[in-house]
Amino acid sequence: MPISGSGSRPRKERRMTETNTATENTSIPTSEREWRKKLTPMQYYVAREAGTERPFSGEYWNEKDPGTYMCIGCGAPLFHSDEKFDSSSGWPSFYDKVEGAPVEEHTDHSLGMVRTEVTCGNCQCHLGHVFPDGPRPTGLRYCINSASVDLKRD
Ligand SMILES: [Zn+2]
Repeated sequence: MPISGSGSRPRKERRMTETNTATENTSIPTSEREWRKKLTPMQYYVAREAGTERPFSGEYWNEKDPGTYMCIGCGAPLFHSDEKFDSSSGWPSFYDKVEGAPVEEHTDHSLGMVRTEVTCGNCQCHLGHVFPDGPRPTGLRYCINSASVDLKRD
């Protein structure tokens, strides 16, 4: 995979952006007011009110660039493009999370269905749902809202 060993020049540029985003993203708001300030209305609706963006409407459902998808609330690395696959669902889909990612699962009885909601354990942001119909090797499909994550390109 043409991911590593791409030289040191672009790396330097990325470093600076990383530092900026890191300081901004890692402070977790302590009130809903702060959350509203930090997030766009769509991000707030999805991440804080457990909303769902319309399929094929989000930023990343068809994203192919390699990188890590970070939590919109706290900047924790959650998913990586290596585990992203085309689920034809209209939402970014992953068959696994990043190792050690603070992804938590909860039973969700909303909309008359029993589903497994996934949230960020660091900041409690809603991410999406996980379904048992994904590809090998995990058989899982993390169906994630674009609004809940921020792609940090490799
Ligand atoms: Zn988070």
